[in-house]
Amino acid sequence: MELPGKRRVTRPVFVGSVQVGGDAPISVQSMTTTDTRDSQQTLAQINKLAEVGCEIVRVTVNSREAAQALSVITSSSPIPVIADIHFDYALALLSLKNGIDGLRINPGNIGSQLKVREVTRVAREENVPIRIGVNAGSLERDLVERYGRSPKAMVESALRHIAFLEKEGFYDIKVSLKASDVLRTVQAYRLLAKRVPYPFHIGITEAGTIFSGTIRSAIGLGILLSEGIGDTMRVSLSADPVQEVRVAYAILRDLGLRHRGVEMISCPTCGRAEIDVISLATRIENRLISVKTPLKVAVMGCVVNGPGEAQEADVGIAGGNQKGLLFRKGRIIRRLPPDDLEEPLIDEIRSLTGEFIP
Ligand code: SF4
Repeated sequence: MELPGKRRVTRPVFVGSVQVGGDAPISVQSMTTTDTRDSQQTLAQINKLAEVGCEIVRVTVNSREAAQALSVITSSSPIPVIADIHFDYALALLSLKNGIDGLRINPGNIGSQLKVREVTRVAREENVPIRIGVNAGSLERDLVERYGRSPKAMVESALRHIAFLEKEGFYDIKVSLKASDVLRTVQAYRLLAKRVPYPFHIGITEAGTIFSGTIRSAIGLGILLSEGIGDTMRVSLSADPVQEVRVAYAILRDLGLRHRGVEMISCPTCGRAEIDVISLATRIENRLISVKTPLKVAVMGCVVNGPGEAQEADVGIAGGNQKGLLFRKGRIIRRLPPDDLEEPLIDEIRSLTGEFIP
């Protein structure tokens, strides 16, 4: 199935080794929640994120100490690191010196064109792109007065920030436009897509808990991606950032844009269920979180309908009264005691993928 929208043509940038925009796959990013000054804890979280497929990581840089810690973080991080900076151009310069691969700063908030000149000069030297991040909650007052906190105001704000960089001949730009509600965000990206060639970082800000944030992100990012808008994405959740990466891949997978890791299929359970599908499927999904190979894994409640209903699964289990089943593509390969389904399934996945599963 084709998506309704053709991928928007954008001018690619490189965040370290990761291409964003152009014909590059939509990259998945997240943000650390640690105190950046604590380089070891921050690195531990980055490693965890990289293990589940995070391709770019952003860290907050809100002090000189945090900017200094970047030298350790960037030299050991397995994935490119972006420094998230508000207002302070001195922190941007120090971060650039300390090996970052991307910078998120709004040039209109730095203070003067001279400071923008200095930041873009060093960013160009270091081959570091700059992301402009417009947030509906912090728009310029005159724009709010004229347009309210509307998509139009967000787009005008982005164009202003972009002009600061273009004035310096700096074009390695990405843009994000975030509002906490889906429709405003979507509309803002649609409008800006018609105005500039720069790749977009897409996300719904302050999206919420795992439950509401997943729904909001799936709808908002789903609409944009299906229209061909979006080059790198972050799912924002009030949760462990590992969950953000999982949700991002699930969205990309369901749109047929990326295929990585395990897609769980499990039945809703009913009166026929012979095993505790809910706890078993959740436990198995968590154990398979680091698997990279694309694989559909099914956990079905009964042998009557299970293997048939999960024919598309590469491998799966179905509960039974006396005997459960292990099946591949709907074909039974082993009969097992109903209380011993998990380990044989994991073994099967180990042999199918050749990957380590704890
Ligand atoms: S697979 Fe079996 S237990 Fe699960 S919903 Fe279908 S009939 Fe019910």
